[in-house]
Amino acid sequence: MVEDEPKVAALIKKGLEENGFNVDIAYDGFVAYKMFEAREYDAIILDINLPYKNGIELCRDIRSINPRVPILMLTAMGTTEDKITGLDSGADDYLVKPFEFRELLARMKSLLRRSTNTISGGNNLKFLDLEMNLDTYEVMRGSTKIELTQKEFALLEYLLRNKGRVLSRIDIAEKIWDITFDTGTNVIDVYINFLRKKIDKDFSPKLIHTQTGIGYVLKEGKS
Ligand code: CA
Repeated sequence: MVEDEPKVAALIKKGLEENGFNVDIAYDGFVAYKMFEAREYDAIILDINLPYKNGIELCRDIRSINPRVPILMLTAMGTTEDKITGLDSGADDYLVKPFEFRELLARMKSLLRRSTNTISGGNNLKFLDLEMNLDTYEVMRGSTKIELTQKEFALLEYLLRNKGRVLSRIDIAEKIWDITFDTGTNVIDVYINFLRKKIDKDFSPKLIHTQTGIGYVLKEGKS
């Protein structure tokens, strides 16, 4: 956990340890990165406002060497734009401060469960020239290797397992984020756009399609 407020850090550490987690704390972004390089962590809780290197920069740095470790970002800023900046830097999920501890615990468990489930899945998913290896996490579009974050990977896996079927935003929210989003939330659209940039933008045919008013579908098509 990377959090510069000692009281908040101590409280979260205590709560997580009572629930069976082992927690290391870094109080600034510089030390956090050194720790991340030195040890293998199952998940990272990352505050945004940090000394020396903020959470957004740190998240980008971590992603550049590890695209898959689950990252939960803590943000005091509540605007949609800030959330998108956090997610765009590679975080898998975010929590807006102040939050209840049980909310943080639920998000952590969900992120960890998903990363373990994906590892034990043990096969290949394929649609046209898009291929996803659930053992190695390798994603290929044709001969191009695609780097996805853990959340993007989970979303693409869900689309691939349901190819040809329209998935509503609610389906996706429940399956990938384990929660029912308020109707105003655009996180799913943001993630779909991340995926489109990576697997569709430079390729043909386009695979991810919008079903207006409902959600998204993976299929062959022009637009
Ligand atoms: Ca802070």
